Amino acid sequence: AEPLGVHVRAIDIGGGYVAVEAADVTEAHRVARVRRDFVANVSHELKTPVGALQLLSEALQDALSGGEAGDSVPDEEAVARFADRIRHESARLSRLVSELLELSRLQGADPLPEPEPCSVDRIIAEVIDRSRTAANAKEIEIKALGERGLVAYGNEGQLVTAVANLVENAVAYSPEGTRVDVESGATDEAVWIAVRDEGIGIEASDLDRIFERFYRADRARSRQTGGTGLGLAIVKHIATNHGGRVDVTSTVGRGSTFTLRLPSRSSEQG
Ligand code: ADP
Repeated sequence: AEPLGVHVRAIDIGGGYVAVEAADVTEAHRVARVRRDFVANVSHELKTPVGALQLLSEALQDALSGGEAGDSVPDEEAVARFADRIRHESARLSRLVSELLELSRLQGADPLPEPEPCSVDRIIAEVIDRSRTAANAKEIEIKALGERGLVAYGNEGQLVTAVANLVENAVAYSPEGTRVDVESGATDEAVWIAVRDEGIGIEASDLDRIFERFYRADRARSRQTGGTGLGLAIVKHIATNHGGRVDVTSTVGRGSTFTLRLPSRSSEQG
């Protein structure tokens, strides 16, 4: 049950009088609970790959000494398989740790330091470059579309991180041979970058939860793709830090579109 959200304190103010002070601490309780849940989640998320690494290294040792046969002839096929899974789990663990650090940096961040003009073309080119290996492995074509020469105001490194997370997801949650479009455009108030895929899509009931830390629509698939459940939480923080927002539309089996909107400088200046 939720703890009572009121603290009451009696103060003897002399002359036979007592003052009663009541403070509403409901919000403080809520923040404390969110923090407790987060720490519990982090511990759980860290324990899973660490546990897997422990088991896998034992299995590897076993395979090196011949496994079931016990004849000290390494079972090379098993050794290769376990080594590969150890590499996969440690990559995931390392990603988890860096994304947690990134998230905590963003959460502690003051509103953006002096926003700089950033070339949207350059951001998109950098993102496509980073995702090329993963996309090629699935024969996914990533295309930059839309208006060229746009300028967004903000922190270029953060904007690249945000768009890269969206493109990485688009690739991860799409079947082979599909395409991913990164389109940019501008309205009077905003510069937008949309990432559109022809992937598995997202159930309507998951749509408003996917931006929560650690929320994954399909845990098993996210694990397979090396996902941490933090990518979209990071995107949302970056959007908010920039005074913008991120939205999603999706149809199961058809694909998803994530749109990052950043206020243009003119609206900021009023
Ligand atoms: P993850 O590391 O699991 O990808 P994210 O925070 O980036 O974590 O995304 C949260 C969840 O949202 C994913 O686990 C997945 O279920 C869903 N998701 C995100 N992007 C897409 C997409 N482009 N297509 C389908 N599902 C997606």
